[in-house]
Amino acid sequence: MSLSARRGTTIAPAAAPSESVLAQIGRFDHVTRLPNRLQFIERFESLAQPDRPSMLVLVTLAEAKHYNEILRALGMAFAEDFVRAGAGMLAALLPADAEIFHVSVLSFVTAIPVDDLAQAPALATVIAAAFAGALEVNAIPIKTKVGVGLLPVDVSQGGAESLRAALVAAQDSRRIDSGFTFYDHRSDAAHLRAFRILADLPAALAAADQLTLHYQPRIALQSGQCHAVEALLRWNHPELGPISPAEFVPLAEQTALITPLTDWVMSTALQQNRMFRDAGHDLRVSINASPVNLSEAGFDDVLLHRLEALGLEPEHVELEFTEGTLATNSQRTVQQLTRLRQAGVTVALDDFGSGFSNLSYLARIPADVLKIDQSFVRPLVDASHDDFLLRQIIAMANGLGFRVCAEGIETEYAYGHLRHLGVAEGQGFHMARPMPAGLLQDWLEAR
Ligand code: C2E
Ligand code: MG
Ligand code: MG
Repeated sequence: MSLSARRGTTIAPAAAPSESVLAQIGRFDHVTRLPNRLQFIERFESLAQPDRPSMLVLVTLAEAKHYNEILRALGMAFAEDFVRAGAGMLAALLPADAEIFHVSVLSFVTAIPVDDLAQAPALATVIAAAFAGALEVNAIPIKTKVGVGLLPVDVSQGGAESLRAALVAAQDSRRIDSGFTFYDHRSDAAHLRAFRILADLPAALAAADQLTLHYQPRIALQSGQCHAVEALLRWNHPELGPISPAEFVPLAEQTALITPLTDWVMSTALQQNRMFRDAGHDLRVSINASPVNLSEAGFDDVLLHRLEALGLEPEHVELEFTEGTLATNSQRTVQQLTRLRQAGVTVALDDFGSGFSNLSYLARIPADVLKIDQSFVRPLVDASHDDFLLRQIIAMANGLGFRVCAEGIETEYAYGHLRHLGVAEGQGFHMARPMPAGLLQDWLEAR
């Protein structure tokens, strides 16, 4: 039985479509001929049954990425067959009187009566299990990762918002073994916050008072002197308050916003270094950069020009990259790093030991400094701590010719022990916390 026959919604071929036919076309999906999102929203209230609670079940056939691969490899007609096959499979699993709405290219939703809104209906298990295998499309078995989201029908929520929440649940379900899950407002809130952060970042970059840099002194462990500081980004959002760079930088790195963000950090850090030097402090400022920055042409030119414009030397700046992110197989990355290092810019490998660098990567990487991750340093509170791994990392880094810097020195013991193990430099709350530029000058002058 064809889908349209089952639903009784055949659309007449329209040589010269009348107004009423056009209006109807806009209410049905052209691939499956099922009622579409518009109808779902219009008729949402009627999905609630007067005598029994009902549950929305939203099925997403595949992730967009996967669907695009099907489109690319097998073409649009096949992709449409795939969507129709998915709809057919779903229709076969549902009770005959359940109405299916085709709400986005890959998503279908239906409302089924249930006894208990707090429990997943047995049907969710049936759907997840049926779609866990391959979907046969024109004799080709296609394996997809289906998502099944559940949401109690609540008329006060409205159709559009209910649809969004059910879709969130379907996306979340891909991370869950059972293959289906209820809408979870915490996971939703986290996504909405991430979206908000990205949406508000351009305004923060343009505003004068939202982004600042704090500086954490880096100490030469033998002499106790401070010749370098690390610039750490701070964002005070007008409504959300302070947001950690550990939260917003990784989000920005997923988008084109990382380019203006690093540019802002670079420009601000260099100007403030000019200010520190004019006040008599000979400092190298370390900037955290993203590998994305190095993969873009002209990053090296901009940095070298800015240094020159401010009367700074390349030796006055250091670039930090997180371990493992510097894919040295990108020719442009290697070229820019090499040029910057030849000019005198220091390159550091940040958070070393937290990633999965293999040894050959370490031998090839064009870097000068290796910063040992805090996870190896912070547990150093007294001699009872097993420092076997830490000693191996230090020996290996020194052997490969890196200058070693330890991050996260929180105790007097850690400071002394790392100095004893031959670590050249260190940062940590034991010596100084990150502080605004003005306070850093006071701190330097008080020493
Ligand atoms: P990171 O580059 O490894 O920076 C060190 C982080 O450890 C900083 O956190 C610093 O405040 C914190 N820290 C320093 N000493 C101690 C200590 O003794 N104990 C403890 N518990 N923590 C210590 P922060 O400022 O929150 O930055 C987090 C991460 O965000 C940075 O890690 C870096 O990866 C990223 N980040 C910060 N600013 C920037 C930036 O301007 N650009 C980019 N791309 N990333 C940035
Ligand atoms: Mg860093
Ligand atoms: Mg670090």
